[in-house]
Amino acid sequence: MIPGARLVLLGRQGAGKGTQCTRLSLHYVVPHISTGDMLRAAVREGTEFGRKAKEYMDAGELLPDDVIIGVVEERLEHEDTKNRGFILDGFPRTVTQAEALARITEPRGIDLAVNLDVPTEVVLGRLAARRVCVGCGANYSTAAPPEVDWTCDVCGSDVVQREDDTEAAIRRRLDLYEEQTAPLITWYAARDELVEVDGTGTTDEVTDRLIRAVDAAREHRRSS
Ligand code: AMP
Repeated sequence: MIPGARLVLLGRQGAGKGTQCTRLSLHYVVPHISTGDMLRAAVREGTEFGRKAKEYMDAGELLPDDVIIGVVEERLEHEDTKNRGFILDGFPRTVTQAEALARITEPRGIDLAVNLDVPTEVVLGRLAARRVCVGCGANYSTAAPPEVDWTCDVCGSDVVQREDDTEAAIRRRLDLYEEQTAPLITWYAARDELVEVDGTGTTDEVTDRLIRAVDAAREHRRSS
């Protein structure tokens, strides 16, 4: 039987985290927890929280740490994460969030943080071409659209450009990534919890690389 996993996926916006997390969650049979998807669902539902979150998201800004930590803490209390684990996508994004995650997941902690590495020039092109399903969050691009007229192949909802995929918001998010999220790579490396994976190449190649890297790092840990 394939063991579960307790993973954090790090990487620039547009590195392919969403697509790869969906695949890893099927492989390891664990829930894919994307803070971006959770926030977009709250925006769609039109809750007070969703309205506030939208202001930050449209500007490309991060929500305050205490707010997003509360959201993730509540999600990790659900039964589905207890046995086999979880894959976190988009969280943590600051050292404060990483410290909170370490506290929330005590005593087991996480298995690994994986940095999906794709250079900035490549992600800029991908983000401009990115299209997403408003219903289930499936990712497409102008080069690989859904089969029928911008209707999602998975759930039939509309496939659109994300409102925060404007050039100004993309630049702001990439700047924030370098400032606030890139330091997490050093933070996890210092705890001996980091693996780096090259995120360029085809989707299948990257998935294979990720699974091999995660399995090898866990095996290495077990035997050392
Ligand atoms: P994403 O889909 O992961 O790119 O997230 C979209 C937007 O949601 C981000 O630009 C932030 O405004 C917000 N967001 C998602 N995750 C976090 C987080 N961990 N901390 C703060 N803001 C977040």
